[in-house]
Amino acid sequence: MSENVQDACVIAVANQKGGVGKTTTTSNLGIGLVQQGKKVLLVDVDAQGSLTASLGYHDSDIFEVTLATVMGELLCEEAIEPTKGILHHKEGVDLMPSNIELSGLEVSLVNVMSREMTLKRYIELVRKDYDYILLDCMPSLGMLTINALAAADRILIPVQAAYLPIKGLQQLIRTISRVKKQINPKLEIEGILLTMMDYRTNYAKEIQTLLQEAYGKNITIFHTTIPLSVRAAESAAEGKSIYQHDPKGKVASAYHSFTEEFLISLNGKEKKGGFHR
Ligand code: ATP
Ligand code: MG
Repeated sequence: MSENVQDACVIAVANQKGGVGKTTTTSNLGIGLVQQGKKVLLVDVDAQGSLTASLGYHDSDIFEVTLATVMGELLCEEAIEPTKGILHHKEGVDLMPSNIELSGLEVSLVNVMSREMTLKRYIELVRKDYDYILLDCMPSLGMLTINALAAADRILIPVQAAYLPIKGLQQLIRTISRVKKQINPKLEIEGILLTMMDYRTNYAKEIQTLLQEAYGKNITIFHTTIPLSVRAAESAAEGKSIYQHDPKGKVASAYHSFTEEFLISLNGKEKKGGFHR
């Protein structure tokens, strides 16, 4: 795709359940895509700023420009430079960082016109410069997550293979259908990624089977699963991707395989319908 002058495919990494691997998947899929020669922007759509911190930017509270700044300026109809505030990470991804100011912005969105579309307006400014833009969503279905779903072409749903995900998933899928009907008809679920798989237990495999039975007919459940490993948790704490922290380990290898599977999945669907405008 780099050789074509096409707009980026925008992917929201979403699940309102907390701690399922959204941020870990966003950063390692993003860097995996860079390793495949793609130009990638990661956007931290979470006021916790975990994506920003997991890439080593631990001092995000002092950033002059974050996602809250550019979204705030768009709300005030100010013109902004597309590159404003974007950080260039040493592993090749670009990042629009966030910090706690984003929660204030979310509150102020409630009373504005087209409140669901503000992030989309930002993405439209930058999407011509990238092949892929990944949106790391927060664990809620609040206004910022709705903004991410409104701005996205595809949704990737990480599911932790350690609890029964069925109920929460139904709620997420209902929200996605509502957004698709009302504000973003092109939105599609790309698939479900099982994370933190403990292959020693039968439980993890049972959940895989259960998911397949409940959703497999309509939603892709990726073959690649991400194993549970303390190395993954360490890498986020160290501010490095898994490829840097433990390049020969099983999580790096899983995210590498997942990146390939994800690209094949996207390209297959692109041929059928296309996500480009
Ligand atoms: P939140 O909902 O709070 O945004 P999240 O869905 O983004 O959470 P992560 O932050 O990616 O989830 O992961 C939750 C925790 O689990 C983190 O401490 C992370 O380092 C750890 N973790 C992520 N993937 C794995 C894994 N494969 N094995 C072990 N620990 C992991
Ligand atoms: Mg997160």
